[in-house]
Amino acid sequence: MALGIAGLNFGYAGEAPPEVAALINWFWHFYENWVKFIFIIAGSILTLRIVGSTSKTTLRGKNLAGFIIYALLIHILGPYMVGNSELYLFSMPLPWNTTPLQLLDPGSSFFAERFPVLGMAGIMASLIVYALITFVVLVGTLLLGRRWQCSTLCLFNGFASEVFAPAFPLTGKKKQAGKSTLKLFSYLRWLFLAAALFFTIYWLLHLGGAIPGEAATLLSEVEVYKYLGGELLAAMFMWVVFTGRGYCYYCPLGTVLAYLSKAAGQKISTSESECIECGKCNRACPLSIDIKKEAQIKTPVTDLRCVGCGHCIDTCPTETLRYTTRFLDF
Ligand code: SF4
Ligand code: SF4
Repeated sequence: MALGIAGLNFGYAGEAPPEVAALINWFWHFYENWVKFIFIIAGSILTLRIVGSTSKTTLRGKNLAGFIIYALLIHILGPYMVGNSELYLFSMPLPWNTTPLQLLDPGSSFFAERFPVLGMAGIMASLIVYALITFVVLVGTLLLGRRWQCSTLCLFNGFASEVFAPAFPLTGKKKQAGKSTLKLFSYLRWLFLAAALFFTIYWLLHLGGAIPGEAATLLSEVEVYKYLGGELLAAMFMWVVFTGRGYCYYCPLGTVLAYLSKAAGQKISTSESECIECGKCNRACPLSIDIKKEAQIKTPVTDLRCVGCGHCIDTCPTETLRYTTRFLDF
C-alpha cells in the first residue's frame, strides 16, 4: 500500500491537475503520519501480547514506549507546531542523510520544491528541529549508548523491527547471519559510512562557500537513489526474507553511534548470575551476536553491532545479562 501511494505521489502527482495533485499529496501525508502512527500503536500492543506469552518484555516495553512517544512528536504534534507535514524527513540526524542541509541551499531542487509550501519560516523551524534532534541523539548516545537512537527513537528501521518483531521475516524461518554474510555486511557498513560522510562534507563545504555547487543536482539525485535502493527497498527486502534488523547491520548512522557508544562504555554485562548455556540469548539477538560465548566466560558483550534492543536480556531465564553504560544501569 505504501509503495502504491508513494508511486502516485512522486510519479503521477507532478503531471496531474492541481486539485488531484493536492488530494494525492494530502493522502500521502495522512498515510505517512496518521496511518503510520496508528500502525505503531497497534503493532506495539500485538507484539507485547505475543512476546509476553513466552518471555519478559521489560526492555522491549521501554523500546516500544519510546517509539510511540517519538512518533507522536514527529508525526502528529511536530507537524502542527512547525507547519510541516514532512517533519519525518528531519527525524534522522546527520550523517544519515543530507536533505535538511540541501534545504539551506536556495539553488537546490529540494529548496525549490519546499519553499512555496513551507515558506522561509517553515524551513527555518524545520531546520531548528533537525539541529535539536541531531544534538539530542548524539548527546543521548554518549550517555545511554546506541540503545538511545537504535532501539528508542529510530523511525526508519529501528521502530519497524521492534514494533513488528514477531512478524519478521515475513517468509521462512528467522535467519542468523553466517560468517560470509557478516563479512559482506561489514564491507557494506564501511561503504555506506563513506558515502554518508562524503555527501555530508560536500554539502557543508558547498554551503560554507568553499566549493561551487555544480555537482549539487547530480549528487542529490545519487543520494535519492542510494536511499531508495540501498536503504528503503533493501530494508524491506530483508524484512521479508531475513530479519527486521537487516539494515541495522550497515546503517551509517548506526556505525557512528556504535563508536560513540564505545565512548559511553556501552556493554552487556554477563556476570549477574550463572549462565546455564541454554542459548536463548543467541536465538533472540537480531544482530547475530554470540552472547552465550561471552556469558560462559563472564566477559561483557561489546560488539559494535549491538543496538541495545535488550531482547537477549528479556529472554535470559537466569537473569545473567544486563545493559549498562557509564551513566546507565538497566
Ligand atoms: S546483544 Fe542483546 S541487546 Fe545487543 S543487539 Fe543482541 S539482543 Fe540486542
Ligand atoms: S540466555 Fe542466559 S542462561 Fe541462556 S545462554 Fe544466554 S546468558 Fe546463558
